[in-house]
Amino acid sequence: MSHGKIREDKTCLNCGHQVEERFCPHCGQENIERRQPFYFLFTHFIEDFTHYDGQFWGTVKNLLFRPGKLTNTYLQGKRQIFVPPVKLYIFVSFITFLYLPSFLW
Ligand SMILES: [Zn+2]
Repeated sequence: MSHGKIREDKTCLNCGHQVEERFCPHCGQENIERRQPFYFLFTHFIEDFTHYDGQFWGTVKNLLFRPGKLTNTYLQGKRQIFVPPVKLYIFVSFITFLYLPSFLW
């Protein structure tokens, strides 16, 4: 779930229905402010990495020791227990390029 600020306007931007809660009951789109200040994006980015809980370590453990089982389980649709692959790739790239210069000097 996103941590974005809920819009004052209760009309769904996607379908135009009235939205009383965080999500539109008609189309499911989240009714949050689309334009966020940079500090919000940065803190959300950091929160994403620090709130992986067991998902991150479970995914990494399976990726290193049982990659076939991880792939099969993911393709069967049991995805909630794993970090999404693109998110994991971006995280690993971020960490790699953050620490790579310290190994080169
Ligand atoms: Zn909608």
